[in-house]
Amino acid sequence: MKRRSSDLGAALAQLDREHLRRARRTIDGFVEPGSRVTTVVDGRELIDFSSNDYLGLARHPAVAAAMAECAGRCGAGSGASHLVTGHGAEHSRLEEDLAAFTGRERALLFSTGYMANLAAITTLAGRGEMVLLDRLSHASLIDGGLLSGALFKRYAHADAVAAESALAAHADTAAVIATDGVFSMDGDVGPLDSLARSGRAHDAWLVVDDAHGLGVIGASGRGAVEYFGLDADAVPVLVGTLGKAFGSFGAFVAGSGELIELLMQKARSYIYTTALPQPVAAASRKALEIAQRESWRRERVLALAARFRAGAQQLGVAVMGACYGEVQATHPLTPIQPVMVGSAEAALRAQRELFAAGFCVVAIRPPTVPRGSARLRVTLSAAHTEAQVDALLEALSHVCAAQDVQ
Ligand SMILES: *Cc1c(COP(=O)(O)O)cnc(C)c1O
Repeated sequence: MKRRSSDLGAALAQLDREHLRRARRTIDGFVEPGSRVTTVVDGRELIDFSSNDYLGLARHPAVAAAMAECAGRCGAGSGASHLVTGHGAEHSRLEEDLAAFTGRERALLFSTGYMANLAAITTLAGRGEMVLLDRLSHASLIDGGLLSGALFKRYAHADAVAAESALAAHADTAAVIATDGVFSMDGDVGPLDSLARSGRAHDAWLVVDDAHGLGVIGASGRGAVEYFGLDADAVPVLVGTLGKAFGSFGAFVAGSGELIELLMQKARSYIYTTALPQPVAAASRKALEIAQRESWRRERVLALAARFRAGAQQLGVAVMGACYGEVQATHPLTPIQPVMVGSAEAALRAQRELFAAGFCVVAIRPPTVPRGSARLRVTLSAAHTEAQVDALLEALSHVCAAQDVQ
């Protein structure tokens, strides 16, 4: 049936009724140039507790300077896709840096993490094969699975036993298992050790998208894979993004030389798109260098996350329990510390009250999270001060008490 123009209005009205209509907020400047976490939203100065700038690098002067310097040399745009004439020396250098950082033979740059995940999954799986995903996987992994044309299965969140059963039930089918390293909306980690064992036992590819773990967790900031002590054999395909802890933009797949070569040959989201601007790659290289040199940044953001959790517990604010398989003790702290609210309407109300109190904490609603689990996704940054974290806790305790949240 043809869609009528009036259906558009009906679709929007439906979103309004369900409190699921999204609205952008325009960030229109920074109060003081030196400040890394205050933003001006709708003319009001707010402290940002919703960004993924975990290490405080997005507004770092040296990162911005690297971008500007490269733009002066290379110009703003790449002019073509990587395989035509868009690939530059700055891209190659960043790929080498990323391969070294992740301990893989090679890395391949993508414009976004969304495109990197589409590439990884559609290149490794196709018709007659199987893609197996965690139920809470990022939308880009899900879309990769759907686009691949493979049999598409999901297992209960962080349930490695269910994943193993699904592999065993399709023992004759070539399979790709894909999971987030650190889950973006929950802040917990996937059971990578068990998934790696299953992957090896069933000769299945394991793709780990560690958009939120790289740069932050693991003894040297190499992410969830380092936290679990897994090598390149255990996790043959590692996806990372540059727009989160590294404060820049872009993404990459890291793995064996053969994997990267095949992605270059086959992945449509690599081939049919303009190369990332070289100045953006230059900014990423600088950010990667700072993140590795200044380990205090990841220590600081995790110390602030611990402070937030402890303070929340004292004030009776229920921060989501981050554990998998009920093994709380082995779970790493991450900068993502969501407060569960429940209904989309209540989450929006809490967001408004926090805005009024001077904090930008965005309500995350379905379909980004399952129905009935709308939440305030609080994220910490190395650029926050202890006083800002304490002030947020104070405001949260009022908001939660008033709404009878948890
Ligand atoms: C943000 C994110 C992506 C997408 O990365 P972009 O570079 O923003 O497109 C992919 N996977 C996960 C888990 C993410 O959180």
